[in-house]
Amino acid sequence: MIKKPRGTTDVFPEEVVYWQRIESCARKTAAKYGFGEIRLPTLEMTELFQRGVGDTTDVVQKEMYTFQDRDGKSLTLRPEGTAGTVRAIIENGRCSDALPLKLYYILNCFRHEKPQAGRYREFWQFGVEMFGAAGAPADATVISLANSLLRTLGVKDITLHINSIGCPKCRPAYHAALKEYFSAKKDILCPTCQGRLETNPLRILDCKNPECKELAESAPKTIDFLCPECEAHFASLKRCLDAEGIEYGIDPMIVRGLDYYTKTVFEFIAPVVGAQSTVCGGGRYDGLMKELGGPEMPGIGFGMGINRLILAMQGSGVTLEPDDRPALYIASMGEKANETAMGIVEALREEGIHAETDLCARSLKAQMKYADKLGAAYTLILGDSELASGTAKLKNMSDSTQTDVSLSDIAALRSLVTE
Ligand code: ATP
Ligand code: MG
Repeated sequence: MIKKPRGTTDVFPEEVVYWQRIESCARKTAAKYGFGEIRLPTLEMTELFQRGVGDTTDVVQKEMYTFQDRDGKSLTLRPEGTAGTVRAIIENGRCSDALPLKLYYILNCFRHEKPQAGRYREFWQFGVEMFGAAGAPADATVISLANSLLRTLGVKDITLHINSIGCPKCRPAYHAALKEYFSAKKDILCPTCQGRLETNPLRILDCKNPECKELAESAPKTIDFLCPECEAHFASLKRCLDAEGIEYGIDPMIVRGLDYYTKTVFEFIAPVVGAQSTVCGGGRYDGLMKELGGPEMPGIGFGMGINRLILAMQGSGVTLEPDDRPALYIASMGEKANETAMGIVEALREEGIHAETDLCARSLKAQMKYADKLGAAYTLILGDSELASGTAKLKNMSDSTQTDVSLSDIAALRSLVTE
């Protein structure tokens, strides 16, 4: 038997209802905040992520699905949506649109990680990105959008963690402090982080290796190295969140796994998910547009993991079921009756009603059993005598009451089965 690739998922209707709920709520929430949808290619040039996400990140160093296509170009299955969004804006000359430019997406991402509950190799994100607004009110708006969606979806015990990781101005002093701290413990670091010590010591704080993680806990904190501008930005963000009535905690351990972040970083954490409890992560990326060849333009956004969000909803006791019960099942006996049933069922479907009839040449008894299994609200039995009289008995399956109906009066039938 051929199996799906490790870390990918098959989703059947019972679970698709969660996806649909999330997608529809995400679209409605995005619309309330004035974000328009962008759709992007699944494949991008590898260089986009090397430059955009950063080539010292775990994502680029260890997790990307990169291959050479038949033209010899290096392409990558996107590991996230921000870099592609920025590329699309630059490439399509959208930098001169009215600012702030507000876009959202629902897309699949690919990362070669160790699959486990809440961590997959193909996963989905709802993400939003806002460009051209430098102040903390933009950060607070994006955070508030995520907060609003998570609450609408009924996720329990969710907490917001914020931090500031500074900007290129405060970074050198912080990097020096980190380098000093980790250099003394270099031998304990994993080989990747030993390399990062020279290239990008901030990345060590995001390493998943247990030894590196333990060392990171006592490392110098970004928040103690902020320049006056970043300090003021962070203070303003806190005031905006207070004004919006959004609760948060300051978490100096959050540095985020992608290189492009500056100033604000945040995560929404839902413990009900278990170990992979970060359902949403985001932050400000004021240098990214320039880095990718566009103008100097600030940006802020987040990615929300839809697969994890489903686990969070289920863990919070949100139960959803597909709305797939037919309003009417017509059981038929004989070819002529079956054809008449087909006509009635199709006419009802035209009216927007879910109606079914036999497609498997089952016996009457088996058809009734099937109607029961489907959970049909009403059934109707059609045989020779019903065809001759042009009327049949419509049975209400919940109370077994029966009503005579005319087979030619679709409007009457429609109103009876939707009562
Ligand atoms: P983590 O620390 O869990 O690896 P991350 O920092 O790599 O997360 P981001 O790149 O910020 O994650 O992506 C945003 C969100 O996408 C995460 O908060 C999470 O909900 C989801 N996500 C990231 N990687 C995966 C994955 N492999 N499987 C499922 N969801 C994921
Ligand atoms: Mg990760």
